[in-house]
Amino acid sequence: MIHGYNPPERFLPYLSWTEVAALPDKENTVIVLPTGSIEQHGPHLPCAVDTVICAGVVGHALARLPKSVPAYAMAPITYGKSEEHLHFPGTVTLDGETLLLTIVQIGESVYRSGFRKLLIVNGHGGQPQVMEMAARELRLRHGDFIVVPQHTWRVPHVAGKYMSDREKKLAMHAGHAETAIMMALAPDTVHMERAVTNYPPEFPSKLLSPDGRPACAWTARDFGPSGIIGDPLPATREQGDAILDSLADSWAQAITELHTLRWAAREEATWGKPQHTGFIQQSLG
Ligand SMILES: [Zn+2]
Repeated sequence: MIHGYNPPERFLPYLSWTEVAALPDKENTVIVLPTGSIEQHGPHLPCAVDTVICAGVVGHALARLPKSVPAYAMAPITYGKSEEHLHFPGTVTLDGETLLLTIVQIGESVYRSGFRKLLIVNGHGGQPQVMEMAARELRLRHGDFIVVPQHTWRVPHVAGKYMSDREKKLAMHAGHAETAIMMALAPDTVHMERAVTNYPPEFPSKLLSPDGRPACAWTARDFGPSGIIGDPLPATREQGDAILDSLADSWAQAITELHTLRWAAREEATWGKPQHTGFIQQSLG
């Protein structure tokens, strides 16, 4: 079956339509959409890394929620906007417009089913802007829809305690933290004998980039032939277990807070229903 890391009873596609229709308190039930990518992650990791990590973290978070918190995972979006990796075989990419329309249409379906809280847990660093644009579009269409786009790694976790200063500063892709958590989530897919260290050069303008990370747009092959941007070599399974545990704890807490929070869209009272129809169509024009 297709529930992956999720407890089957918290996997929304396993419910029948009558079960979805009959769910109590749908307004405060949290629907979680993991969004990943299929893109090269160096010679030592599978292309599915970002999808495995966001879906895996969400599944582990849902597994530790108390029964009193209603929350369900959707099937993950496995394909993302991965154009910065398209020079490497195995990468599958959508363009930004296609991904934007996909997220908006999935969000519309969630809303139409009666839910009002959608949490997008995004595993790919190349597409947070698309998630934010989709969330804003859904908000414009529906004043009572709470859509939260957030990156998988943007909640408290312990990865930093294992990483070197250089790794924290410059690593971006297939480095220490991603390799370690993959050892925990899908150990058979990790091939450490092929791992290499590869850092980008520090960006030459301190004004444009105080932390030294590339301030200009880049593609992965700008930094060398391996596809790695960071140092996966110090990663261990034990670190990966601890990182996964901390991320799952934080996301379980975030889902609980999203379940209990109340958020009123105030301007609806003055403006009436928003008449927005615009930018999605325009952006394709
Ligand atoms: Zn990644």
